[in-house]
Amino acid sequence: MTGNIQTIGVIGAGQMGSGIAHVSAIAGYDVLLYDVAPERIEKGLATINGNMARQVSSGKLSEETRKQALGRISAAPTIQGLAGADLVIEAATEDESVKRKIFQQISPILNPEAILATNTSSISITRLAAQTDRPERFIGIHFMNPVPVMKLVELVRGIATGDATFEAARAFAHRLDKTVTVSEDFPAFIVNRILMPMINEAIYTLYEGVGTVEAIDTAMRLGANHPMGPLQLADFIGLDTCLAIMQVLHDGLSDSKYRPCPLLVKYVEAGWLGRKTGRGFYDYRGEHPVPTR
Ligand code: NAD
Repeated sequence: MTGNIQTIGVIGAGQMGSGIAHVSAIAGYDVLLYDVAPERIEKGLATINGNMARQVSSGKLSEETRKQALGRISAAPTIQGLAGADLVIEAATEDESVKRKIFQQISPILNPEAILATNTSSISITRLAAQTDRPERFIGIHFMNPVPVMKLVELVRGIATGDATFEAARAFAHRLDKTVTVSEDFPAFIVNRILMPMINEAIYTLYEGVGTVEAIDTAMRLGANHPMGPLQLADFIGLDTCLAIMQVLHDGLSDSKYRPCPLLVKYVEAGWLGRKTGRGFYDYRGEHPVPTR
């Protein structure tokens, strides 16, 4: 079975889940998309539709492939609807208690041979695997945002992940035309262990009045040659996700250097989560993004 994956189940139809469904369908997999909030499935399908149409206009995808790929994605109205999946990728909110419940729920529904994966940005793969009946068939498959554009997939083995599971995950990522790096199972793995403290520091720089939103982003774009400023990137990732990752780093490594910036906490408490809610370090509700500080 591990070498014979045809149907991908995706849990969570937000920014990442819809992206994972998009690239899987283009690669020829059948996709079942589930979210606890039914309107998020509708929104996810509409996003996939729009993004594929954009790929057609820019010549990256043929109209024929778009039609076929869309036809391969179906909504799963309940989690039971994922029963036929060979590989299930969880891409729900970055909250360990949410993810634990999902894995407890999904395990008994699936074929015993099916592989379970999580797209978590930071949470221990070994701890999540322990919630399932199949730690040897559990792995971290960490995509980057936006999934159709970003080339990297970080693969993370838990302590019990079997070689066949790892190879199946690697073959899956390669079929999606992604480049794979392998990280050990430590808080936030490689990408976010390095990226998120930089973003958190940019927020401290704003909090302490060293620079404005615009000054900080321009400084890092033109001064460090980053394609996007750190605050713009934080809005893109989602400030709730940024805060959750900093908390995992802080709790998991017990080092005060990972202390989440109080200003990040305040934005999340306000529900200003970045692009996905229309406002974060920038306000996206008008024609052009406007800094909120
Ligand atoms: P998001 O807020 O856009 O989407 C999360 C979705 O999960 C929502 O639609 C929500 O309704 C759904 N959800 C919540 N609880 C659920 C449950 N019990 N069952 C099913 N669905 C549930 O967040 P996102 O940016 O797509 O992030 C999702 C995951 O991907 C997180 O683990 C995050 O760390 C990871 N990730 C995010 C990024 C990024 O840049 N945003 C990059 C890589 C990985």
